[in-house]
Amino acid sequence: MGRVIVIGCGGVATVAINKCCQHPEVFEDLCIASRTLSKCDALKEKLQKNTKTNITTKQIDANNLTELIHFFDEYKPDLVMNLGLPYQNLIIMDACLICKCHYLDTAAYEPEDTDEPNWRKRYEERIKEKNFTAYFDYSYQWEYKKKFEEAGLIALLGCGFDPGVTQAYVAYAKKHEFDRIDTLDILDCNGGDHGYPFATNFNPEINLREVSSEADYYENGKWIRVPAMSIKRQYDFDGVGMKDMYLLHHEEIESISTIYPEIKRIRFYMTFGQSYITHMNCFQNVGLLSTTPIMYEGREITPIQFLKALLPDPASLGPRTKGKTNIGCIFTGVKDGKEKKYYIYNVCDHEEAYKETGLQAISYTTGVPAMCGAMMILNKIWTKPGANTLEEYDPDPFIEALDKYGLPKRESYNPTMVE
Ligand code: NDP
Repeated sequence: MGRVIVIGCGGVATVAINKCCQHPEVFEDLCIASRTLSKCDALKEKLQKNTKTNITTKQIDANNLTELIHFFDEYKPDLVMNLGLPYQNLIIMDACLICKCHYLDTAAYEPEDTDEPNWRKRYEERIKEKNFTAYFDYSYQWEYKKKFEEAGLIALLGCGFDPGVTQAYVAYAKKHEFDRIDTLDILDCNGGDHGYPFATNFNPEINLREVSSEADYYENGKWIRVPAMSIKRQYDFDGVGMKDMYLLHHEEIESISTIYPEIKRIRFYMTFGQSYITHMNCFQNVGLLSTTPIMYEGREITPIQFLKALLPDPASLGPRTKGKTNIGCIFTGVKDGKEKKYYIYNVCDHEEAYKETGLQAISYTTGVPAMCGAMMILNKIWTKPGANTLEEYDPDPFIEALDKYGLPKRESYNPTMVE
């Protein structure tokens, strides 16, 4: 029996709310709270007639701590699912601590304004100390570990697919398949086609900031930096076929390398078509990916936010997208003294995801794990308090829930390796 607030009403939130409403025995009361109330009301209208979950809606500015505290105090949620943007993670975590409720999100904190002097200073220090340059890192949210522990509350960090399921796959591989893991490649393939020359499958601002950043991987205890999109490989994905993929920084490399220091090398690859890369390079070359505001006809605008306004809304791609995603982890390591390889992954069909929830598979593969993670907390299956990523919990019940509720695992003991 749970009372849940979902913050955000975009693609990921819409899938998660759809899925929560399929389990009214767990999600008894659910409030959809976002910036644009009409979107929350429209979703409630669509779902309420077919679910016993009692849905309410609320207009909220998640940047306003006082507003959040007042709202949480009034609604008294057991859990707040932050499925809006990562810019608000810390504020929402503060409100959860004050109002004594659990917290869950799907992306690591990053600031909206990357020119803010205090943040910039710490960012430059992190580059010197750790040698990775992504705008997001877990240090800000891990600083809440003790506070959540002392309050007996869980802040489940990064409970989407990647980050999220990929870390549960690592915990699962370590529990069942390996005595020691030596290498890990995380492969994220989107074989979907939406028919637009350019569109992103989740929030364009977050997506483009991630993809256009300098890339890196983790090897022998060090971050190795390489220029954006400079390492390209091809891989033949089950359910999708041959695709070009590029090495990127991704937040779970940071948590996996911290929690499993035995892993000698961790890399993350994502597939992109040539049209995506050509457009992205062009946007970057003309300054449209900049997060620094400029004056335009007497008004301050942020180039990347202006670009976002021009691009298709990811939540609108559902009816146009065909094909499949394939996301998973390939390991090498040792079990019972013998070297072995292991691949665990999920294949998700865009059209089936759309049929069930009205959204394409990128939102689906993020929203379903968010619902399953919420279930682990509300059903008291995961009880360890603190601000924790998924490696810190027993992967079995979570992966069983994914198997049952839309994202079944596939396994291979003889996968093709990435060079
Ligand atoms: P969308 O842009 O579709 O949705 C974001 C939602 O948050 C919108 O409803 C928006 O409101 C709302 N919002 C934004 N700012 C505020 C605010 N200040 N107060 C209240 N509500 C606000 O994003 P997605 O659904 O595509 O992505 C959601 C999250 O999931 C992102 O953090 C993304 O990085 C993450 N993600 C994680 C993945 C994973 O595998 N772990 C994969 C894909 C995404 P409005 O409607 O008014 O714009």
